[in-house]
Amino acid sequence: MNLILIGLPGAGKGTQAEQIVDTYHVPHISTGDMFRAAIKNETALGLEAKTYMDKGELVPDEVTNGIVKERLAEADTEVGFLLDGYPRTLNQAEALESNLKELNKDLDAVIYINVNKDILMERLTGRFICRTCGATYHKLYNPPKVAGTCDRCGGHDFYQREDDKPETVEKRIDVNLESTNTLVDFYSKRNVLHTVNGEAELHDVFKEIQNIIGDVEK
Ligand SMILES: [Zn+2]
Repeated sequence: MNLILIGLPGAGKGTQAEQIVDTYHVPHISTGDMFRAAIKNETALGLEAKTYMDKGELVPDEVTNGIVKERLAEADTEVGFLLDGYPRTLNQAEALESNLKELNKDLDAVIYINVNKDILMERLTGRFICRTCGATYHKLYNPPKVAGTCDRCGGHDFYQREDDKPETVEKRIDVNLESTNTLVDFYSKRNVLHTVNGEAELHDVFKEIQNIIGDVEK
């Protein structure tokens, strides 16, 4: 089962990836883990990636593509894989396509967890913190029992982290929106794209993913 999971920040990709891996026992291949492993094992590409990362620069596509290719050539991917966080660009998607061909692997499904931007904003900007005791809350998922009063210390002074502020979150979504649309377009042309409604309850989202996997496994 060779899968790619795509979705914007806040779409619930991490949760679904975990469940897919638990249920289907395929290795979870995320770019972060892959870079860390390549650097730790001091592979030629890993060391090359490190020189960019140490300078705070983006790792060029050729290096990233090479690291993914090496990872996909490892024995544990014979049962399949779940790619998460890669590809991000058209160039990477094209490189992946030719690398998979060289490795004699087919892509079974690209699962896109689709969530409207307004809902992502609600999910990602909901977190706030009590200034007095540091307790964290979320407007939707974990509000204080009495609005405006901290459950733990009774304080009334709350703040938001920079990362959770609407301006920051919107920028993060917009940057990702562009690359996600590129990938959605690329994979729908290849008839492997499956869009899942990521606004449903978590277990319903997973049920939908299981149906897709069941269909492509036949
Ligand atoms: Zn408090």
